[in-house]
Amino acid sequence: MRARKRFGQHFLTDPAVLERIGEAVALSPQDKLLEIGPGHGALTEVLYGQCGRFVGVEIDRDLITPLKTRFADLEVVNADVLRLDFREVFAGGGWRVAGNLPYNISTPLLVKLFGVTDLLHDMHFMVQREVALRLCASPGNKTWGRLTVLAQYHCRIEALFDVPPESFNPSPKVWSQVIRLTPRTDKLPLADPVCLDTVVRTAFSQRRKRVSNALKSLTFDWEVIGIAADARPDQLSVEDFVKLANALASRKSGGNDK
Ligand code: SAH
Repeated sequence: MRARKRFGQHFLTDPAVLERIGEAVALSPQDKLLEIGPGHGALTEVLYGQCGRFVGVEIDRDLITPLKTRFADLEVVNADVLRLDFREVFAGGGWRVAGNLPYNISTPLLVKLFGVTDLLHDMHFMVQREVALRLCASPGNKTWGRLTVLAQYHCRIEALFDVPPESFNPSPKVWSQVIRLTPRTDKLPLADPVCLDTVVRTAFSQRRKRVSNALKSLTFDWEVIGIAADARPDQLSVEDFVKLANALASRKSGGNDK
């Protein structure tokens, strides 16, 4: 099988792994599913015919006709998933998303999906094991970072199972993991998502500094907010970051710093 490196192509060939993903997703006839990067259709095959609407978005032009031929009812979009307008794609809400993700785009893709969690029912992805560990990390852990905070703010995350390199053709260098992300219905109130991104991005760009120093440019009153000024960014919880984001938002809108 010819594989294009620049598209992160590692095709799943292990039938047992494919079957387990199918069981984890457990589609129902009324579901709407977006598959990211169907490739030659290994995962598509497992999920096909089990849901009301099935859309696949694939960047590789050469794979489009074979996909359309093999799966007559599949709606195939030839596009870079990072350039899609997800508000349009997921119109109506309640969408499910699945894919054996191209590893080179998994972080920006996840961040983009976190922006539309109100339209999603859940997501099942194959990602590099290292990315999965980062998504599931706890504060104080080396891997706790921007992606973790955003992911855990927006979603509940479950590690489902590990997948060895030999399950793919060509084999990647690293192990993978299948994860499930379910948008939270109990999100902490957030005045402005952009402020959360600003605070998290700024804090983790200088993760070895004390948080008061790393976020100096945003001039918080640490005592009023109730976060230890000498903590390191990677010791702050999701809740702490939300407090900071809301303080920033309130100041931007001319309110009090709280
Ligand atoms: N689902 C298939 C293929 C996984 S490999 C399987 O499990 O075998 C990742 C797939 O994502 C490839 O088909 C690749 O062409 C596609 N892809 C890579 N970057 C993409 C992007 N930006 N937008 C859409 N699809 C992309």
